[in-house]
Amino acid sequence: MMNVSTEQDEYWMAQAITLATEAEALGEVPVGAIIVLDDKIIGRGFNRSIVDSDPSAHAEILAIRDAAKYIDNYRIVNATLYVTLEPCPMCAGAIVHGRIKRVVYGASDQKTGAAGSVMDLLRHAALNHKVDVNSGCMETICSAQISNFFKMRRKQIKAKRMADKARADQTL
Ligand code: ZN
Repeated sequence: MMNVSTEQDEYWMAQAITLATEAEALGEVPVGAIIVLDDKIIGRGFNRSIVDSDPSAHAEILAIRDAAKYIDNYRIVNATLYVTLEPCPMCAGAIVHGRIKRVVYGASDQKTGAAGSVMDLLRHAALNHKVDVNSGCMETICSAQISNFFKMRRKQIKAKRMADKARADQTL
């Protein structure tokens, strides 16, 4: 299969990137997802694991719940899911359960990516539903969004540690 994302794909991915910034504003790892059916967005989600105290509140899961509710069906056939980061095993499982037809993702995840990087649950030989996958759509922007977030967070942690130390030194 050709791994080419179209101009149309980039149009939708840009909207997933916008959703990822909403996650970032909440202090969450910036990941955004949308589900498109017949040229229409039917589901949206961004990472909210920390604010919701919910390890399953990944962008894809929330977008799938949103879309399924919208079409009033637990199977979201013929839809495409756009997500800024390669889905993890949990999300890949939900994508297969939801019978999503196609997944387009931006940045690869070399730690937990389940769409080809670490494992491939979306095209697993043993599963009866296989998903078309396009990787690397607007990858540069998606990767930068995530790596900048972690860079910033490391900086904040370091600044806090130094401030704590300065405070501790003063009280000596
Ligand atoms: Zn996930």
